[in-house]
Parts: sequence; C-alpha cells; structure tokens
Amino acid sequence: MPAAPLELEQVTPNVFTTTKLRGCNPSFVVTSDGVVCIDTPQLPTKAVAMREAAESHGSIRYLINTENHVDHIFGNYWYRGAGEIVNHQALWDIFMDPKAALDPFAYALEAIPTDDPEGEALLPDRDAYYADLPRGTVVFTGDLTLHVGDHTIRCLWTPGHTPGQLAVHVPEERVVFTGDTIFSNCQTWLMTSNVDQWLEALERIRALDDVDYVVPGHGPVVDLKYVETQRAVLMTWKAAVADAVARGWSREDTIAQVRFDNKFGPVDIGQAYMMDHIQNNNAGSLWDKLTATGYSKGR
Ligand SMILES: [Zn+2]
Repeated sequence: MPAAPLELEQVTPNVFTTTKLRGCNPSFVVTSDGVVCIDTPQLPTKAVAMREAAESHGSIRYLINTENHVDHIFGNYWYRGAGEIVNHQALWDIFMDPKAALDPFAYALEAIPTDDPEGEALLPDRDAYYADLPRGTVVFTGDLTLHVGDHTIRCLWTPGHTPGQLAVHVPEERVVFTGDTIFSNCQTWLMTSNVDQWLEALERIRALDDVDYVVPGHGPVVDLKYVETQRAVLMTWKAAVADAVARGWSREDTIAQVRFDNKFGPVDIGQAYMMDHIQNNNAGSLWDKLTATGYSKGR
C-alpha cells in the first residue's frame, strides 16, 4: 500500500504546512532565494516527502527547529545536507535530551508500526541515527532575523513550553509559526514548561500587528484570536492546581482530581493513548512547581 499523501496545505502564496500528520505541523516558506523549512516530520516517510515538497520550490537554505521535543526534530535526520540548521542556544543544549523523562528516540519509534510502517526501512539503529543527526549550525541567544531572498524570517525567542522555544514570524506573508506555544483545538502538553513565561510568550505573539495566519505546533491553522483560547487553557490548569495546593491536596490527590480530558479537545493525531500521560504529568508537574520552596507567590 503506498504511503498516504502529505495533504500539504497552502496557507499563503509562499507558505505551506501540513496539519494532518502524527507529530508537529512541519512547514516551509518559499523565497526568491530558496526555501526556509520550519520543523520536520517525525515519521520517516513523511520527512522524506516533506523535504521533496520543499525542494520542488528551490534548494533549502535554512531549517529552523522551534523546540527540542522529538516531534519537531526527529525528522532532521532525513534533512541531512539541506542547508543550515537554526536552533536557539537553549534548544541546542537539550537537543534529543538524553535526560528527558520520555526517551526521545524510543518515543519516536513508538509511532512507526502504527503510523508509518514503511518508515521502518528508512530508520537506522540508534547509534547511527545519533551520529548523523543534523543539529544547530546557526545557534543564537535572544532573537534572530534572517533575510532570505525577498523574505524576512524573524526567529522570536518565546520560551515557556520549552526553554529554547521559537516562533517564526514572516511579515511579508502575514504568518507566524508559533510551534507549541499554541496547541490548536487539542490537548496542551505543559510538563516541561514554565507557564508564566509561556503566558508572556503568548502576549508577544498577540502583539504582532501584521499577522493573519497562525500556524500552530499542533492542530489546524488559526488566527491571532486563538491566543486568547490558549491563554485560557494555561490559566485554567494553573488556577486549578494552585487551588489544589491551597487546599493542601497531595500530589496524588491533585493528579486524581485535576483533569481536563473532556474540556480542551482530543490529543493530537495518533496519540489518543497519551491522554492519561498528559493529564497526570500536567497536573503533577504544576503541583511540583507550585509547591517547590522558593517558588514566589504570584508566579
Ligand atoms: Zn509538539
């Protein structure tokens, strides 16, 4: 059976994404001097297909990763030799983090039998994969602006979901790619996050005054109004766990009682089985942060 097509979506004349894959929403921008890619598909056959789709418009100049989580970087392997890799320093520092609670290589492999059986043949063993995995060649702190052909590619440091989180703003296309600062119409993963920084990141994105299209990390393309929805999700989680802490609930009680399975949509494509993992770890990680000594009131 041939692999299902990418279902590429043309957001503007020069911006393409796909929101129908297991994993993130990999995207690319076509400029007058080559292509800029944003994130890579985690499924091997999709990574190969996405690279081909990008290269059908010109050579790839840059690949920007918006975060260190495996669903945004695993496919870098199939972009070997395709331009410079742009990573924030704080992303680069924990690229394929060996200390992550979910082993990134193992978690990526979980998806292959069900979602990309033909990808098996493209996957090297663990050591070969790590030895040849493209990571940042352009590594920076703060923000970075690239001028590529007729386009401005603004990499905005928007930490919160992860420490090295980037949003990519392309004013000429009136588009911002937010990475997982926005989960559109699906559950939000916040266990490795700093929610207060994340709320600030949302305000930075909301303040962009030349954006019609928000390409989120997961879920369908939305507009800037969705920032308010994402803000409400974060505020609801934080308030509910803060309330549990104020009542003196234990970590276990908090995890058992504070859940939003039915409130914030399904888990993104292919990961319905992770619902308990998300609910438990969102609540547990927030409880840890809100009860940590030195965690200042009002944060
Ligand atoms: Zn993601």
